[in-house]
Amino acid sequence: MRAVVIGAGIGGLTAAIALHRKGWEVEVLERAPQLEPVGSGLAIAANALKALDVIGVGDEVRKLSAIQGTAGLRSSDGKWLMRTTNDRAVATFGDSIVLLRRATLTELLVERLPKGALRLGVEAGFGAGTELGAGPVSEVGVDDLADRFGADLVVAADGIHSAARRALFPGHPAPIYAGVTAWRAIVPKPEGVVQTHETWGRGLVFGVMPLAGSEVYVYATDVVPAGSTFADERAELVRRFGSWHDPIPELLQGAEKVLRNDVYYLDKPLPAMHRGRVALLGDAAHPMTPNLGQGACQAIEDAVTLAATAPDLEAYTRARLERTAMIVARSAAINRAVTLTHPLAVRLRNLGVRLGGKLSPDLLLRSQAPVLGWEPPAASWSGREPGARV
Ligand SMILES: Cc1cc2nc3c(=O)[nH]c(=O)nc-3n(C[C@H](O)[C@H](O)[C@H](O)COP(=O)(O)OP(=O)(O)OC[C@H]3O[C@@H](n4cnc5c(N)ncnc54)[C@H](O)[C@@H]3O)c2cc1C
Repeated sequence: MRAVVIGAGIGGLTAAIALHRKGWEVEVLERAPQLEPVGSGLAIAANALKALDVIGVGDEVRKLSAIQGTAGLRSSDGKWLMRTTNDRAVATFGDSIVLLRRATLTELLVERLPKGALRLGVEAGFGAGTELGAGPVSEVGVDDLADRFGADLVVAADGIHSAARRALFPGHPAPIYAGVTAWRAIVPKPEGVVQTHETWGRGLVFGVMPLAGSEVYVYATDVVPAGSTFADERAELVRRFGSWHDPIPELLQGAEKVLRNDVYYLDKPLPAMHRGRVALLGDAAHPMTPNLGQGACQAIEDAVTLAATAPDLEAYTRARLERTAMIVARSAAINRAVTLTHPLAVRLRNLGVRLGGKLSPDLLLRSQAPVLGWEPPAASWSGREPGARV
């Protein structure tokens, strides 16, 4: 059985490894000529760590990551609104949340691909004029799309602006703007203890995640019109967050390379996660706002579930559609709460969060149970050992 995976993001790479472990021959097509290291960090939660264990990568990820430790929400003056500890997280979900460089995870996954499986600089097409899968979709019919790629299964992991999603579900509404733009940077760790936290202001969010070694991953969001351009991203961050609590001003001083993306998400879930022999996976299937830190985690869950169920794609949709729609909706709800700008609404929001945390110290963790409490599907993973070369 042969699978062609479109896209070498975290979702596509995990799917290729998982399918290979189940005995599939795999080929990964990536349109970028090389996998550029994206200068940002990533939180990988217990649910995704369990999925990575299934493909034999979990322990390596834990080894190269920082454990989240004590973490929580703060207001812009630095007061903690709610917090929890790593011990409590482990007791609740059987694992920590770990923090690592995105490029570290990508490298680990690429190393585990079967030799020669990754083809860089190859754009898979669902329209005319591309190297593979060329010609209008209407000529072959969506259900026969896999034949174009000479595959028993096509895994479309082609990201938020997925051409595969548009081809398979042409009438479906595109992802919508979440109202915020997001900045990300990796900066040097300042002196002293830096705790993981997210600080909420009026329509503003600033997140701090210490990584292994001497680096900290920072991210921030603000409510701005879609497509806004800024001459100097770092200056924009300093203008918004430079007077917030420590260590935010010092962290911003070290922000040399700053990434920025407008945030989009799929408001209306797809009717299915597959059509014919094409499965959609990760951001291609369910782009979400980053508020739960689950986009990549869900792509990883999708990938091992797909490998467990393939070639039965109905079963894949049954296992994934409802769950991912729930997580997209939860994440969007948090986005709505953090984009409040009216001072009274912000005070009430913060008061509610603080009271909730006081009344129930485990509220932060318990509220995440439906997301982090996931277990990988039971399946035989005896196909090939992780990293086995073909
Ligand atoms: C600010 C921010 C913070 C985030 N933080 C977290 C976090 O802490 N934890 C978490 O789990 N998630 C987080 N996410 C979400 C996460 O980044 C994404 O959900 C995840 O990277 C999606 O992975 P993917 O493999 O589905 O898609 P992508 O990473 O977008 O990969 C798609 C790949 O497909 C390739 N491609 C596209 N079209 C074609 C084609 N036609 N042919 C060949 N190749 C093609 C692209 O070049 C790309 O390499 C965050 C997102 C943002 C914006």
